[in-house]
Formats: sequence, structure tokens, C-alpha cells
Amino acid sequence: MVFDSEKWALSFYGIIDEHFAVDSELLKLHIHRKESIRKIQVERDLGNLDIYIPTNWEMETYQNQEKLRKVMSAEVKWQALNIFSRRTNLIANSIGLPNLKVSVCVIGHFMGKCYYMENHIKYNQWTICYPKKEYVDLLICHELAHFYQHNHSEQFWDKLEHIYLGLEDNMQCTRETFQQLSDERRTNKTVFLLRYWGRQSYLKDFFDKDFVKHKTPLITPIYKDTSEGKVEIAYSSNFEIRFWQG
Ligand SMILES: [Zn+2]
Repeated sequence: MVFDSEKWALSFYGIIDEHFAVDSELLKLHIHRKESIRKIQVERDLGNLDIYIPTNWEMETYQNQEKLRKVMSAEVKWQALNIFSRRTNLIANSIGLPNLKVSVCVIGHFMGKCYYMENHIKYNQWTICYPKKEYVDLLICHELAHFYQHNHSEQFWDKLEHIYLGLEDNMQCTRETFQQLSDERRTNKTVFLLRYWGRQSYLKDFFDKDFVKHKTPLITPIYKDTSEGKVEIAYSSNFEIRFWQG
């Protein structure tokens, strides 16, 4: 089953069960129901994660979501740490940077943070669930570009483009496709949501605010009427966060 991340994100009301899956080049994550088990079981190797939940578990309870969240969070962290460490240092070395310290965690709403003074990059572990490997590379290149430009100035975006287009895998990529990819990554709704699900406090919020009971989607598109009809211009979320298209 290929996971339709856009569709899932727009219907997500805080519950993860066996219908949730990640099927990307970097990570395959599947949740299965299994008979004759009483607690969660895990099978893993690098890039593959299978989580088994008892057949009779009711997934719309806070207790079971919390148990799943804990296991999934720890497992995704392990996957992300291994994948990000390798890939970051491979790219860093290819542009003449030394080996860097890489760590992963849930860092507020950040996707990544660069501590250039300490040769250290932190990633939000859920970004490993990006549907495309290219988005992960873009994020890595973004953080690496901060070693050259500490702000988000025009020079920074030029540097990022330069690093990304210089990667061996991206021989076919042009300035235009690079721009397209950057926009897609920025507005990807899956990670937008998952980065919060990684924290207990947010999960509690979903239940406390009755989002789960009423199955309220946590993000909704905002439309604008134009001469070509209705156009999606932004998304609003129940977290009082907004992000704009284009
Ligand atoms: Zn940045």
C-alpha cells in the first residue's frame, strides 16, 4: 500500500492506526494487527519498520495512542539517526566540510537546526517520513548551507541551490526543478503534522480539545476565488499555525 500523504494529512484528526503507513525510498513503516500478542511488538532493520499491535486494541483511546506514540517515536528516532548521520556526512565531506555531529529529536516546530559553531546539526526525526528522498537531501543541504551563510539571505538561497545541484544524484536537476522541489517540501503536510504528534503534549491536546471525538481534521485548506475558479492559497491548523503556498 502506497501512502497518500496529502490525503492522510487532510483527514488526520490525531489518530494513528494500521491505516497509517510510510512508503518512501528511505523508510518503509507499516503497522499491522497481530493475534495472540498483548503488547506492541517491533521488527526493524535500517529503512524498514514493522509495528505490530494487538488485534483487539481500540486505537481511539488516549492510552493506546500514547503507547504507540512512544514506540513509534523511539523507532523512528533510531531510523532517522542512522539515515541522517550517513547522508549528512557523505554530503558534508563532498563539499569539503569535516565530519559533523548529527542528532535527531522533536525540536519544536523546527525541521532542522544548524549549530555551525559546534559542527553539529539537529534534525526533527519525523522528517525521515518525507515522501521523497529529495526532500531529505534538500533539508540536509539547507542545514549545511548555514555553515556558509548563517541567515536566510539571498546569498544563503544561492548557496543552498549550489550545494544541492552539485550532488551526484542530481545531474538531471535544473534551477526550475530545484525550485519546484523546494516549494513541494515546504508545503508538505505530512511532516507538518507528524512533527507535533511526536510529542506527548500535542497528543493530549487532540484528546482534550475533542478533536478525536469529533474527528476534526487538524489542518484545513484556505481557498480564494479567482478567475480560474477556487485556488488553495494556504492552510490553517488547529495549532494556530499557518503556512502559505508558493
Ligand atoms: Zn535555515
